[in-house]
Amino acid sequence: MELLNNQYVIDGVPLQDLIEKYDSPLYVYETAKMEKQYKQLVNSFKSSRVKVYYACKALSNINVMRFFCKLGAGLDAVSIQEVMLGLEAGYEPADIIYTPNCVSLEEINLAVKKGVRINIDNISILEQFGHEHGNNVPVWIRINPHIMAGGHQKISTGHIDSKFGISIYQMPHVQRVIETNNMLVEGLHMHTGSDILDVEVFMQGIEILLDTAKGFPDLECIDIGSGFKVAYREGDNYTDIEAFGHSLSERFKDFCTDYGKDLILAFEPGKFLVSEAGYFLAKVNVVKQTTSTMFAGLDTGMNHFIRPMFYDAYHQILNVSNPSGKLRIYTVVGYICETDTFGWNRKISEISEGDVLVFKNTGAYCFSMSSNYNSRYRPAEVLIHNKKDYLIRKRENIEDLTRNQVILDNVL
Ligand SMILES: *Cc1c(COP(=O)(O)O)cnc(C)c1O
Repeated sequence: MELLNNQYVIDGVPLQDLIEKYDSPLYVYETAKMEKQYKQLVNSFKSSRVKVYYACKALSNINVMRFFCKLGAGLDAVSIQEVMLGLEAGYEPADIIYTPNCVSLEEINLAVKKGVRINIDNISILEQFGHEHGNNVPVWIRINPHIMAGGHQKISTGHIDSKFGISIYQMPHVQRVIETNNMLVEGLHMHTGSDILDVEVFMQGIEILLDTAKGFPDLECIDIGSGFKVAYREGDNYTDIEAFGHSLSERFKDFCTDYGKDLILAFEPGKFLVSEAGYFLAKVNVVKQTTSTMFAGLDTGMNHFIRPMFYDAYHQILNVSNPSGKLRIYTVVGYICETDTFGWNRKISEISEGDVLVFKNTGAYCFSMSSNYNSRYRPAEVLIHNKKDYLIRKRENIEDLTRNQVILDNVL
């Protein structure tokens, strides 16, 4: 997004025009930024055989999935429904890695039928899967490396109480399960969920993963998950992908030499690929001065955009209708009957009722976490591709709210 002739534009398209055309509130995504992020990641690891799986729970519009498919990405799916959407979007089954947590063996077997790669994260399912499929269906295994990143809770990776992955301390038993059932393990995986700001710390987790990998002779792929940090505030730090690429590529090359095979190095970023490509636009319904606070109340709320309330996430807010006005202090809130505050005490260019505000960095975990709470319609989504805007999801209407309700006409 840039300011051109006192208008915020994305890839040449003015945001104010989009609101006039598609109404408010509105999610807008730009493919140019997605492509830039994807290429940066791939290029940072170009000395390895690298494969990027787009973690589509971040933003699961089929057009976005399809765009990454065209770029050459695979897909990381955490539910059978994401697998089905991925197939619909055009991914080859072999390019989809299904990485569920605590799902039933029935659901996993549905994924087997679809032909996608299966990643297993607990011994109980591994065992049942082995009994049923032996070496007919190869698996990946998700490990939990138990590393504490610098002792800081929020960036601690795969901690001991985490529900994810199979503990590295359980590998002897995993080996027994595999041998007994004659299973074929083709991938080892970890996803720590941490913000990888500190490359060194992340390398510690990788060392453990690589060490574990020595015990699995049939590997084709090492998947180190994701957790790349993006900048939410102006001047925020973000993961230095090039530096990370440099450290990891060297190390991975050495590992492959020792292992005796040129393995694939896989990643599954969600946030890194789509967060900064997304913008959420909403209109100001009311400017309300109370005794202590100046509120700007929007035509949206936590039903459409929950990260600020759910994760205390910070998202930059700008006034699209008055980009260069006097800066004043506002607390920006939603219209839901709860305290749904998007941002406290923000300096924003002077707001009038009817103005359009934009939240930055709203491509990941924003629309995909939206709901119909307060019986509101979910917003429309628009994609900007090659300087043109396309509607990629219609705004909901009353039928969407009533469609699945069974009205008890003869009873009530
Ligand atoms: C959510 C998830 C990701 C993506 O995480 P980001 O922080 O958005 O990059 C990758 N892999 C798995 C298994 C996930 O559950």
